[in-house]
Amino acid sequence: MVLRNANVVTLEPGLPYAGQVAVTGDVISWVGGPDGSQSPAGAGTRVIDCGGRTVLPAFNDAHMHLLSLAATFWSVDCSPGQVTSIRDIQHLISDRARKAHAGEWVRAFGYDESALEERRHPNRADLDAAAPDVPVRLIHRSGHASVLNTAGLGQAGLRAETPDPDVGYMDRDPVTGRPTGFVVDMEEHISKAAPRPTYEQVQDGIKQASQLLVSRGIGSVQDATVKNDIERWNLFQRLKADGSFQANITFMPGINHVAAFYQQGLQFGFQRGGVRVGNAKIVATLDNGYVQPNGEDLRILVTAARQAGFPSAIHAVESEVVEAALRALMDTRGSEELGAPRDRIEHGSEIPDQLIQLLWQSEVQLVTQPSFLYYSGDRYLADVAPARHPWLYRGSSLIAGGIVPPAAGSDAPVAPANPLRGIHAAVNRRTQKGAWISPEEGVRAQWAVEMHTRYPAFAAGEERIRGSISPGKAADLVILDRNPIDCPPEEIADIPVFMTIVGGQVVWE
Ligand SMILES: [Zn+2]
Repeated sequence: MVLRNANVVTLEPGLPYAGQVAVTGDVISWVGGPDGSQSPAGAGTRVIDCGGRTVLPAFNDAHMHLLSLAATFWSVDCSPGQVTSIRDIQHLISDRARKAHAGEWVRAFGYDESALEERRHPNRADLDAAAPDVPVRLIHRSGHASVLNTAGLGQAGLRAETPDPDVGYMDRDPVTGRPTGFVVDMEEHISKAAPRPTYEQVQDGIKQASQLLVSRGIGSVQDATVKNDIERWNLFQRLKADGSFQANITFMPGINHVAAFYQQGLQFGFQRGGVRVGNAKIVATLDNGYVQPNGEDLRILVTAARQAGFPSAIHAVESEVVEAALRALMDTRGSEELGAPRDRIEHGSEIPDQLIQLLWQSEVQLVTQPSFLYYSGDRYLADVAPARHPWLYRGSSLIAGGIVPPAAGSDAPVAPANPLRGIHAAVNRRTQKGAWISPEEGVRAQWAVEMHTRYPAFAAGEERIRGSISPGKAADLVILDRNPIDCPPEEIADIPVFMTIVGGQVVWE
């Protein structure tokens, strides 16, 4: 395959712009300058005339949750674009409950209490009114909380006499002690009770997710789900093998499953059938002002991962957690790790000035979500203390120094997987309603593009394999109608994706 008449942005310092790219099999075999020299195209070579369009390395979504994204295709969408009130949610759920088969649950997702007219979380009574008999699980837009109806609570074994869970939180009526239906971080508990989707259901959702991702120019995704275990690894292998999913996958095993990966010889960087083993995923949160797990326990987890040969990726949103995570990563590093750290912090949503130096010193890579500035920015401006606004999803101040550049991910399905929107937000830093969030943190478009291409490849340990356009690298390319690096910054998000190529195959046009 040869791409001609193109504005190729290689992201390679030696030859930043080119006019043609030749692909042999699944790798880039030749990159030609913008002069008239013709690439070596033999008979039978497919020639794609790009009509002067821009060719970039395909986007790489450095943090997302693939099976949750697939599940959105068989679930009831209760996100702010779809509903404005609890009444709306009830209508949607009641419609779906009427069509449910025996034993099936209604799965709904995406509600945001701050965007509902009632300005509160729905509760079991609201859901019982919509679906008295069918178990219902309504998932909060963060993915970390859910509301269950009475049938759902019953099947999950959550009753007044149920003790408080070790992990997570179950909200109760202060008088009766009965669960209100609202639970936090009890995903593992609930999914044990809910019937598992069939392979065909998962496959159908994954195919739709795959189409969506490649239509947005995404050639690689990194799945950062803490539930990722051997069974899911095998599921991803099967979905790739039968062609249901087109982008490359980096699969980050959950910290509790790292030992099993180690025992099966599935080490960090191991690759099979388009799925690669990534960092060990650890979740740390702020619970009543305390970092959970605490610093000592975080060091134990990170050490266990290192001993199995895995760098870590720690979910850390609040500044207190980011600091604890950075210290745990630095404190546990032996001399052998110096110079080659691969550890990551996921989100790093709040980074105060005093943590920037620590981040640079640690050489830990930040994997952040600039598109949240757009999708959730209005909520942050309303809910986050103004003193913390300058810390939110920082950009330019993080790249002023430091060796390891931040990478970007969507956290889909928490926010849509839309890299051009992420690039737009990293540059413009405006919310959906048009408010600014620390515009001085905006980065140059070139940098924002690299946050969605080269730097995610580094985050996955794949910078020698993909992330830029040069001979020998994977033929993962996106063709855009316009160049996001030199078009007016307010138009980046609307650039149409003309074609997506993964491993030398046209997967979307
Ligand atoms: Zn996530």
